[in-house]
Amino acid sequence: MNNYKIAAIPGDGIGVEVIAAGVEVLQALAAKCGTFGLEFAHFDWGSERYLREGQYIPEGGLASLKAFDAIFFGAVGSQEVPDHVSLWGLRLPICQGFDQYANVRPARVLPGVTSPLAKGKAIDWVIVRENSEGEYAGSGGRVHQGLPIEVATEVSTFTRVGVERIHRFAFELARTRPAKHLTLVTKSNAQRHGMVLWDEVFAEVAKDYPDVRTTRELVDAVTTTMVLKPEQLDVVVATNLHADILSDLAAALSGSLGIAPTANLNPSREFPSMFEPIHGSAFDITGKGVANPIATFWTAVMMLEHLGEAAAARELMAAIEAVTESGLHTPDLGGKATTREVTDAVLALIRR
Ligand code: ATP
Repeated sequence: MNNYKIAAIPGDGIGVEVIAAGVEVLQALAAKCGTFGLEFAHFDWGSERYLREGQYIPEGGLASLKAFDAIFFGAVGSQEVPDHVSLWGLRLPICQGFDQYANVRPARVLPGVTSPLAKGKAIDWVIVRENSEGEYAGSGGRVHQGLPIEVATEVSTFTRVGVERIHRFAFELARTRPAKHLTLVTKSNAQRHGMVLWDEVFAEVAKDYPDVRTTRELVDAVTTTMVLKPEQLDVVVATNLHADILSDLAAALSGSLGIAPTANLNPSREFPSMFEPIHGSAFDITGKGVANPIATFWTAVMMLEHLGEAAAARELMAAIEAVTESGLHTPDLGGKATTREVTDAVLALIRR
């Protein structure tokens, strides 16, 4: 029997609430299936720790994570720490340190959930986000700080290796889906270096996947396709920044940020991959017990798929869909249910 070691990093805000719910559901699922085990280790890496000790990740922390099969992450972000400090202090060192270059973000309108899109418009997308370089490469600097002549640069970095591997990943994924359709999102009309390499390498990789239909859209244009002709999209590959923005739009069009999951994958499996809800720490609802745990449960489904536990993943997804269909919704979906009630409903279906 496989016994998986999972590092749980709840982080900040509602991350703490939804990861607790996710761990509970995953443990119930493992107990019910009886075919695999899950052993969780909890890490207190969050903004409280940073404010107390000056570091999100303690010395040697990243190395200690290497021993795990997967990382189950909540959210990072605090009103007392600038966002760029918290992001670069916790989430990005894990993504970059473990070369989790493929960020996969499925978007679908779950049963019982109302999309703000016109009735009958179907959403069934997977956004593949380049997760290791591009606009978030961290390259740049500031000089003459505070002076009128201050200069700051933020340099997007595109490497042939980085671009090729994410396009190949997206083609492989597109190939597994019924529509076998991949949309390249770009901005090479205005950005004539990195984005042109992005397009050229896409065309080269496409030759190896004649069974996958491709289209190319500028990032501004694809937002209108998402809203007006959502059925024209299937798998979408976009840069770090573009996909970051598009996936929040995708989550909102699917009904709520509170249901959207994501996986930060190290496809070579040299390092553990990290699974997290798309949403952040949501200070406005922290501690109120109303955070939607569905994004985290769906995230858990992606983690189980990655671990090779396909049957358990299917069972959890079915339970999630049965609960959303039942109308038991948290306030972000227009309901009155609490995190506890939604969690209990999913647990009841699993234990049935
Ligand atoms: P960050 O800056 O860490 O990305 P944020 O607090 O600015 O996070 P998000 O957490 O991403 O923003 O979400 C924006 C809003 O969406 C929240 O303020 C909250 O109202 C709502 N929201 C996000 N996630 C959930 C959830 N799981 N359940 C209910 N509402 C949510």
